[in-house]
Amino acid sequence: MKNSKKIVISTLILFAAIVGIVLFLNKEDEETPETQQAAGSKGHPSIEGQPTLGEAEASVSIVEFGDYKCPSCKQWGEVVYPKLVKDYIDTGKAKFSYINVLFHGEESVLAALASESVYKQDPENFWAFHKAVFNAQPATQEHDNPWVTIDKMKEIAAATTPNVDLAKLESDLNTEGTPLAGEVSKDDGLVQEYNVPFTPTIIIDGVMLEDPFDYEKITSLIEKGAKTNE
Ligand code: CA
Repeated sequence: MKNSKKIVISTLILFAAIVGIVLFLNKEDEETPETQQAAGSKGHPSIEGQPTLGEAEASVSIVEFGDYKCPSCKQWGEVVYPKLVKDYIDTGKAKFSYINVLFHGEESVLAALASESVYKQDPENFWAFHKAVFNAQPATQEHDNPWVTIDKMKEIAAATTPNVDLAKLESDLNTEGTPLAGEVSKDDGLVQEYNVPFTPTIIIDGVMLEDPFDYEKITSLIEKGAKTNE
């Protein structure tokens, strides 16, 4: 009895030690910069069919996994994105693609469908619509309140995208089984494939940023990528 008790106790200790080591190693793993390369093993996400700003031949590709309902995405769009456009996209070094994430449920889906419809109908003015949807997002403490509606999407499209047929937009948002649902689920498939942990998630040439607001890191990845791909 005594011995078997001992065995049980030492087994428990051993088990706890193994769990401890595993947790420690995982933690170490999280902290090493190499895990920023998490996306690296899968390469860079395909940007085929995704709205892309900048020159197609730009040597560095930046992808944002974003959600119109996400307050950090709105903030990223106000703080980081304008610098990125000025420093790297307008200068032809990098291009920027946006992929929809559906972390906030039905409203995320509705906004994502609207963005796909607008992109399909009026690609030139997509980015104006995109920006305006984020602008329409209420202040942080109220972002959970419902605000993405069909009428709101139509109103924003009417103000920003002259070539969008609003009736078509409405039917894209109303119709079940609209072909655009395929675009949204394609985006969602990429979110699963790349284990997108939060929004916005930024991937630069296959490297996933731990902190999407770290502009120094963004700069160094772009400069490195521009050099490598020269
Ligand atoms: Ca898409």
